[in-house]
Amino acid sequence: MFKKLGVVLMSMLFMFNVLAAQNSKSTELTRDKIPEKYKWDLSQMFKSPQAWEQEKQAFVKEIPKFQQFKNKLSESSQTLLSCLNFYQKMAERLSLLSAYASQLSDQDTRASKPMAMRQEISQVANQFAAATAFIEPEILRIDAKTMQKFMAENAELRKNYKHFIDNIQRMKPHTLTPDEEEIVANAGMMADTPYDIYGIFKNADMPRPEITLPDGKKVRLDDAAYTLYRASENRDLRKEVFEQFFGSYKNFERTFGTDLYSEVKKDIFYKTVRKYKSSLEAALTPDNIPTSVYMNLIESVNENLPTLHRYLNLRKKLLGVKELHYYDMYAPLIPKVEMNYTVEQAEDLIKKALQPLGDQYLKVVNEAFNNRWMDIMPNTGKRSGAYSSGAAYSVHPYILLNFMGKYDDVSTMAHELGHTMHSYFSNKNQTFLNAQYPIFLAEVASTCNENLLADYVLHHEKDPKKRLAILGNRLEMFRTTLFRQTQFAEFELKIHEMVEKGEALTGDKLSKLYFDILKKYYGADTVTKLEDLYGIEWAYIPHFYYDFYVFQYATSLSASTAIEAKILKEGKPMAQKYIKEFLSAGCSDYPIPILKRVGVDMTTKEPYEQAFKKMNEIMDEIEKTLKEMKK
Ligand SMILES: [Zn+2]
Repeated sequence: MFKKLGVVLMSMLFMFNVLAAQNSKSTELTRDKIPEKYKWDLSQMFKSPQAWEQEKQAFVKEIPKFQQFKNKLSESSQTLLSCLNFYQKMAERLSLLSAYASQLSDQDTRASKPMAMRQEISQVANQFAAATAFIEPEILRIDAKTMQKFMAENAELRKNYKHFIDNIQRMKPHTLTPDEEEIVANAGMMADTPYDIYGIFKNADMPRPEITLPDGKKVRLDDAAYTLYRASENRDLRKEVFEQFFGSYKNFERTFGTDLYSEVKKDIFYKTVRKYKSSLEAALTPDNIPTSVYMNLIESVNENLPTLHRYLNLRKKLLGVKELHYYDMYAPLIPKVEMNYTVEQAEDLIKKALQPLGDQYLKVVNEAFNNRWMDIMPNTGKRSGAYSSGAAYSVHPYILLNFMGKYDDVSTMAHELGHTMHSYFSNKNQTFLNAQYPIFLAEVASTCNENLLADYVLHHEKDPKKRLAILGNRLEMFRTTLFRQTQFAEFELKIHEMVEKGEALTGDKLSKLYFDILKKYYGADTVTKLEDLYGIEWAYIPHFYYDFYVFQYATSLSASTAIEAKILKEGKPMAQKYIKEFLSAGCSDYPIPILKRVGVDMTTKEPYEQAFKKMNEIMDEIEKTLKEMKK
């Protein structure tokens, strides 16, 4: 399936996934009570659901026209061009149709009409995917010489589709004969089984312990309760929560182990049949990320473990404990402080914080606020959480928020605006097929804005308690994003390497391996006291079924930290370069070269060094603030 379409479908599926969790957090306000200016204006996409319906029907009528190109793409550069032009136009229309239905449904997920629209368009998307399924394999089969000739003789093809075609053709060495491909496709039926078993067992069948809270209330300790109570200020409760929670996973160590082993064997099956050197290479090649980027991250983080240890010692001091235990990791560093903002104050603060990005950037931010790109307030039935969508390519990006007026909400708004600006500039400067930024780059612009906001607030906030709250938050983000995700990445790599060497994985082996890495990261005995039980933590992490995905959290944060530092240091020229070379690039090139254009080379250790430097600066600030408070 085409990458582009994959993204469209994926985002739709993703939205369905989140639906289940969302109704728990309801608000009293109905949508009609919310002032217009806080609601997005979907009529900029379609005047009405009727107009949407008309366009949908017109779209469906056109799908059979792809038939005329089937088995003909290698005939001439003109045929290939016509097919891709038609494909691009149709994919853009589908993307808009999907965006409208999803967003309408997100406004009130209980409403049945938008939900039906969403299901209808999802079926249309499947129809479209089936009708266009021939394109990618046909492009793949065109031999290099013919393709060179096509590119040389057809300027429009070269200009608009060269990268798109390269991106398909570079998969040649890993593509099999049609018969073999059919076998591989059939094997796909079994591919999701390990993860399905994991999900069903963990979410439905696994017995969970019950604990008694200090107020006498009894709670079933499932994953959600664990994330809530592990952050309790009550240490005895935290200890109990950790012991009971991981104890329950430990009871099924063998089962979880067998399941994860199956998942790894699946990865190795694909690696072998597609002729990759390693499972890591098989996972990173579709996005064209060199494996050295992955190795480099692990190496850099390992070299900088003393920075994590400095943080852990600071945590120990702030919590006032004699010994720091693993169950102390999520306890709040600093007692909660209230920081409240109206939407207008948030807007004002964000605009000031983003000033370093320059007028061109701020002009679009203003448009987002003034022309109703955002759905800001929560209302009954609205989808929870936050997202930005750039799917309405010819219109503008949209943002969904559930703004409650806390600092985190302001930060989320800045974050989503980062995505929106990335979509806005890429959509404006690239063709539809070259506009969607790759996953590896997706969280760079958003976290860059979060960083700018935090730095601005820290620069202007005098209240030491508030300063500490923000600093503490950022520090924790570095621990959980840069260190913890890399720790996962290291474990993931190790278990794949073991199976590649012919070793079998069992639950106890996995626990021992995980525990060794955990001890290294947390400085066992010298910095943190770790009980053997926590070696089972791997069983709780669903990401080990995502095939080398999590390292991108760590690389994104490092890249955005490096970019922010450059913008603050170099000023306007860097801000302009950031807009022109990064935000406007979409997927017109591969992720690593795009980052290189703004001076961030992910094949070197420099971006990571920037992140560790930042972390140390934050800790310097915390120590300074604490000293001042004592005076
Ligand atoms: Zn994001």
